[in-house]
Order: sequence, then structure tokens, then C-alpha cells
Amino acid sequence: MTDWNIQSRAHACGACGRAFHDQEHYHTLLFDEKASFRRLDVCQACWQKQFSDGARDRKGFISYWSGIYEAPPPPSEPIQKETAESLLRKIIELNDPQYIPAGYILAAMLERKRLFKIKEELVRDGQRVFVYEQRLTGDLFTILDPNLQLNQLAAVQHDVAALLEHGFNPPTSPAEASPESAGVSAPGSDETGAAQLPAQASDPISTT
Ligand SMILES: [Zn+2]
Repeated sequence: MTDWNIQSRAHACGACGRAFHDQEHYHTLLFDEKASFRRLDVCQACWQKQFSDGARDRKGFISYWSGIYEAPPPPSEPIQKETAESLLRKIIELNDPQYIPAGYILAAMLERKRLFKIKEELVRDGQRVFVYEQRLTGDLFTILDPNLQLNQLAAVQHDVAALLEHGFNPPTSPAEASPESAGVSAPGSDETGAAQLPAQASDPISTT
């Protein structure tokens, strides 16, 4: 199965090892490896020397683009409350499949806010996978499509909104995972409870 993951933009060429300087053009190659996609950032010279000629698939990478390296800014701003991106990073780090739908919603939100740009949409082992780039840092986020049904959207949106509002405190052990976080109706809710859902179901990524 494909892993969802985050792959940061490199600060040096993956082929020759030379550090990128600010505003330098670099080239990103995605390789399809057994467990996941592997990212390789290379400098202009290495791109032309080693990768630019010939068919892409013969060189082993399945996707390619180029960008401009920006040196990271000095750390300044204090950490604020949970943002959609910080929440997505924590969820991916936790790597718990129950959060795959939330990760999908968060990535869509970030794309709508123009913080994320979709670079690739691929199918691996029958599963749709989205590769997003964080526009400022160049980090790559591999996001799995949970194949949400329309009637599941409202519950996932509700979970995401609650995580954003209250912060994310991952369970300390799997045994303590809350059964109510997966979109299950609260005990005791009857058919009148279900009638409240469609109010926000029409737009999967409007939750803020
Ligand atoms: Zn190089």
C-alpha cells in the first residue's frame, strides 16, 4: 500500500550535493518505488547532464517539474493555534489510517486557500493518490483518496472542524483511541439526529 507522507524540498542537489542558493532553479523528480514515491531535487547542471535527455520512464521517474529554491526565512513567528497545515502534518506523522479522510479534507482546504498546489494525481494499487506541493516551502504532501461517500462528508468535516478548533491530541496508545472520532453517531441519537446533517454537506471543503 502507498504511504502518505511529506517530503521536504531539499536544500542541496541530490545528485552532486552542492547546496542550492536563494532563487536558484532546481528540478524535482518523482520516482515510483515499491513502498512510496521518492522525491529527488537536483540542480540545473545535474538535470541537464543526467536526467533531461531520453524517455522519462527509462530513467525511472514518473513525474517531473522545476521550481525556484527559496532559502528558508529565519524563525520568527511564535507558534499559534492549530492551522490546517500543522494539523495535516501531525496527522501524517501519526500515520493512523482513521485520519486519512481528515487528511484528504485538509489538503483540499489548503488547495482552495492556494497554499497547496496539486502536482500529480496518480493511481497505485487501485488507490487514487494526490501529490500536493506547499507553495512556499516546496514540501510535497502525498495524500490518499479515502473515496468518501457524500453521506460521510459531513461527519468528516465535523471532525476536522473540531480538530482545528480544539487542537490535535493524538491518543497515547491505540487502545485509548476514541470510537467517536470516525463519524459514528453519538449513542442515543435517533433519526432526528440524522436530519441535521445535510446543512453543510454540499461543499466538502468549506469548513474553516
Ligand atoms: Zn547537482
